[in-house]
Amino acid sequence: MKGADIDVLSNEVESEQQDHPMDSILRMDRMPHIWCPGCGLGTVVSCFAAAADECGMDYDRMCVVSGIGCTGRVAGYLQLDGYHTTHGRAIPFATGLHLANPDLKITVVSGDGDLVAIGGNHLIHAARRNLDMVVICVNNFIYGMTGGQVAPTTPEGMKATTSPFGCLERPFNLPYLAASSGATLVARWTTLDVRRMVKTFAKAFQKKGFSFLEIISPCPTLFMRRNKMGDGVNMMRHFKEDRVIEHGADPRDADIDATGKFLVGEFLDIERPTYIDSYRDMVERISIKTAPKAEKKSAESVQSKAKKKAPSGEKDAEKSGEPALAGAGQS
Ligand code: SF4
Ligand code: MG
Repeated sequence: MKGADIDVLSNEVESEQQDHPMDSILRMDRMPHIWCPGCGLGTVVSCFAAAADECGMDYDRMCVVSGIGCTGRVAGYLQLDGYHTTHGRAIPFATGLHLANPDLKITVVSGDGDLVAIGGNHLIHAARRNLDMVVICVNNFIYGMTGGQVAPTTPEGMKATTSPFGCLERPFNLPYLAASSGATLVARWTTLDVRRMVKTFAKAFQKKGFSFLEIISPCPTLFMRRNKMGDGVNMMRHFKEDRVIEHGADPRDADIDATGKFLVGEFLDIERPTYIDSYRDMVERISIKTAPKAEKKSAESVQSKAKKKAPSGEKDAEKSGEPALAGAGQS
């Protein structure tokens, strides 16, 4: 084919190219993304975008904060105000944003290593305070981008670069951790549960309070390869066969290993005052309590100033209790 023909063909292809349905929320100029084939992160971003679209979120009021790692890249692919923060510090960064502007709908999207290991303390305190934000924790049972080290979510016996003979430690049950710390919406899905994930994300975007959503996601490159578990499709098969959907299940029963049966669903959805609600209540209580005192004080000070300025006739009248004569002391 001649050069001119190629030009004509490429112009035709370009003119036929359709907009991506999620163009308005994805940064298409950043594509292709960096994630490996079979990784679940693209699915999570897609569900996030679909949920924001479905519940008609105002994108100017949405904000995404990520930490470090493969999941930390999420903020960079979304056409929203986004912050790629330091390791483990996505939640405190989001807390600052929220307190400065409580009208923003802030979502923290980060990995298990970032949110539960390095940032674990921030997670439990944000849940305890019931900060009004959504935390999406993509759990692939390992530190991804930093080299496949063992994480506090790595199931017992599974291998990682830092546990070549198998992990000795008991992993966190994340829904139980979040629920017992004070989160008001707690759910777990896998990257196979696309429609359910969209529904729960949409619910969390519209909820007031701390939502913790764990998404179990395959990492074929590090976790699965090291544990000889095959590729991403094998993990999807495992999700299909072994996840048990049970809404309202007790999060204490949501322990998980990488191969056996495990619970998914919306485990908890309750209401309690958010941090900002409690703060505003306190400010109101204090103003009501102190208002009469302040008014009294200012009234007293006006009175004493008036006494100092008052002409002698008025002072005498005040002492005697007689009303001052109109115009007395006026020149
Ligand atoms: Fe996904 Fe694992 Fe690749 Fe990171 S290393 S992009 S988590 S598959
Ligand atoms: Mg991880």
